[in-house]
Amino acid sequence: MDLRSSAEEIAFRAMVHETIERLLPKELKAKVESGARLKKADGVQWHKILAAHGWGAPHWPKEYGGCGWNPTQVYAFEEEQALLGAPPMSPFPTKMVGPVIIAFGTPEQKERFLPRARNGEDYWCQGYSEPGSGSDLASLQTKAVRDGDDYVVNGMKIWNSFGHEADWMFALVRTSSDGRVQEGISVLLIDMHSKGVSHRPIITIDGAHILNEIRFEDVRVPVANRIGEENKGWTYAKFLLGNERALIAMIAPSTRLVSKLKRIATEERDGYGNRLIDDPDFRGKLSSLEVELEALRITNQRVMFEARSGTAGNGGAILKSKGTFISQGLSELMAEAAAYYGNPWIPAALDASWNEPPIGPAWAKGAVPLYMRQRANTIEGGTEEVQKNVIAKQILGL
Ligand SMILES: Cc1cc2nc3c(=O)[nH]c(=O)nc-3n(C[C@H](O)[C@H](O)[C@H](O)COP(=O)(O)OP(=O)(O)OC[C@H]3O[C@@H](n4cnc5c(N)ncnc54)[C@H](O)[C@@H]3O)c2cc1C
Repeated sequence: MDLRSSAEEIAFRAMVHETIERLLPKELKAKVESGARLKKADGVQWHKILAAHGWGAPHWPKEYGGCGWNPTQVYAFEEEQALLGAPPMSPFPTKMVGPVIIAFGTPEQKERFLPRARNGEDYWCQGYSEPGSGSDLASLQTKAVRDGDDYVVNGMKIWNSFGHEADWMFALVRTSSDGRVQEGISVLLIDMHSKGVSHRPIITIDGAHILNEIRFEDVRVPVANRIGEENKGWTYAKFLLGNERALIAMIAPSTRLVSKLKRIATEERDGYGNRLIDDPDFRGKLSSLEVELEALRITNQRVMFEARSGTAGNGGAILKSKGTFISQGLSELMAEAAAYYGNPWIPAALDASWNEPPIGPAWAKGAVPLYMRQRANTIEGGTEEVQKNVIAKQILGL
């Protein structure tokens, strides 16, 4: 297996770099680099700019308006966006529900949902987890009962990211209680503006409102919004979860954080010529994480190589587990670098409109919220213990 980049891959990356640099508005880049808390509108603005350029969903096949890029090209695109300071786009429309609709949707669903997902017009959320059904997802209880041409949905989803701002949810619901639990699940596309949908915010330790409890009370969802066959939703859910784990490796944002940390660590801190990089403990931790990240990048290339050659294994679990370790380690170093300027942090300072003079270096205000936010990496998209179980059983054969 040759993991070196070919001449075409190098040229492709250069083209992507130049295009993103040209398309990315300066104020959006400045907002990302300042560590300000990004809003829905920031990601949507960037998605629409890319869509206008024909890059709204680069990894989709061309017949659905994608670029038909292969995983290596998509990876280069992702990495260049992160390195150049583009705001992260929501993964739900193009990376999660889009591929499911392409693979299993009806022609009508494709026509209705795909163009809007590709162009950043609909904002999506993922309705999988429920109280008591996270790792043990197949035990979910939100019920959808058939009534004519509709399902009537009752139940609750939890830890739902961005549900309070979403137009649509791709949801797992129980349509049968017969047989194995996995056999009674269906996937519904639920209009979040429907009567009977409500949300309650969950504020996380970093002070952000991203997560929600979502309630469904007699919500009517047309049968035409079901993906694929009734009670076969577990197959579609697993297809989507595989994509999610590979996404959560966070190689591109971690690469950006390594560069940022190196910049911070080589700046003089105190007017006496002292720099963090001269502290052997800090330098050791940073270089060891950089080496780990390089190893993860190579593992990712190997996983992509396997995907291209049709020998895909369960690399997503390794990428998720190692990616979590690295991103959490880097966020710890950011908090360490910020030292007393990062603690206590001022929530209002994370708003891009905050005009008070900075306390300490400007980058320090986002350091502790980032540290706190990254704790969730261990849980979201499948917990660390579950990834280790997958690695033990499906990769090591234990
Ligand atoms: C920031 C964030 C965003 C999220 N966004 C979404 C979203 O948009 N949509 C959505 O549907 N969900 C979302 N989730 C939910 C997430 O998918 C679940 O939290 C996750 O699957 C774990 O489920 P749980 O919280 O019910 O924990 P549990 O499954 O109850 O786990 C509790 C503990 O037990 C351990 N455990 C469980 N089973 C095993 C086992 N078999 N072997 C060993 N240990 C085990 C776990 O590792 C964990 O430590 C989000 C979570 C977070 C933190």
